[in-house]
Amino acid sequence: MAKPIGVMGGTFDPIHFGHLVTAEAACEAYDLEEVIFVPAGRPPHKAAKYISDSQHRYFMTVLATIDNPRFTVSRVELDRPGYSYTVDTLRTLYAEYPEREIFFITGADAVLEICSWRDPWSVLELCHFIAATRPGYHLQSLDRLRATLGEEHSQRVHPLTVPALAISSSDIRERVQAGRSIRYLLPTSVENYIHKKGLYRHGG
Ligand code: ATP
Ligand code: MG
Repeated sequence: MAKPIGVMGGTFDPIHFGHLVTAEAACEAYDLEEVIFVPAGRPPHKAAKYISDSQHRYFMTVLATIDNPRFTVSRVELDRPGYSYTVDTLRTLYAEYPEREIFFITGADAVLEICSWRDPWSVLELCHFIAATRPGYHLQSLDRLRATLGEEHSQRVHPLTVPALAISSSDIRERVQAGRSIRYLLPTSVENYIHKKGLYRHGG
C-alpha cells in the first residue's frame, strides 16, 4: 500500500523550527511519504488578528522547507477565496492523492480545538491527527478531548512527543518588533527574508 502523507497546516507567520522539527518527527514516526505544508488563507479563528500578506507567508514556508526532499508546500488555501476550513482542504487533498491515508499534524494545543472546527466529524473521517506535545501542555487535556470524541474517533488522534521547543510565531514577531534577536529560532533564510522585507517591525 502507498505510504501515508502528512499535512501541516498553520498561519506560518513566520514558520519556525517548532513547525519543522514536528513535521520531521511525524515523518519518521509514521513513515510518511511527504509532509505538505499548507499555509492558511484566512483562518476563521484568527480573523480579527493582523496576519501578514499570504505571499510573504508562502515564500517563507518555501524557503524553510526547500532543502528537505520530503517537504512540499501547497497553495490550496491561499488560492481559495474566503475563509480557510480544514475540511475543504482535506477534501481537495484527497482528490489529489486518492487512496492515501492523511495524517494531519498539529500541536497538541491546536488538536484540542478540533471540536470547534467546521464539520469536525467529517474531518475525523478524512484524516488521522498527530498531536505533537509542546511545552506547557498537559496530557489530561488530551484525555478530556478523547472523552468528548468517543472511543472510535479518539483512535484517530495520536500523540507524539517532539523535542521540547517553546518557539512560537507570536514570540518571534514580538522579538522583531522589540529589536531583539530571532537567531536560532528559525532558518536563517527566513530570518533574512523577514529583515529584508521589514516584516513585524511595527507589530500587528
Ligand atoms: P502563533 O504564535 O501566531 O499562534 P504558532 O507558532 O502557534 O503561531 P501556527 O502557524 O499558529 O504557529 O501553528 C501551526 C501548527 O503548528 C499548529 O498546529 C501549532 O499547534 C503547531 N506548532 C506551533 N509551534 C509549535 C512548536 N513549537 N512545537 C510543535 N508544534 C507547534
Ligand atoms: Mg498558534
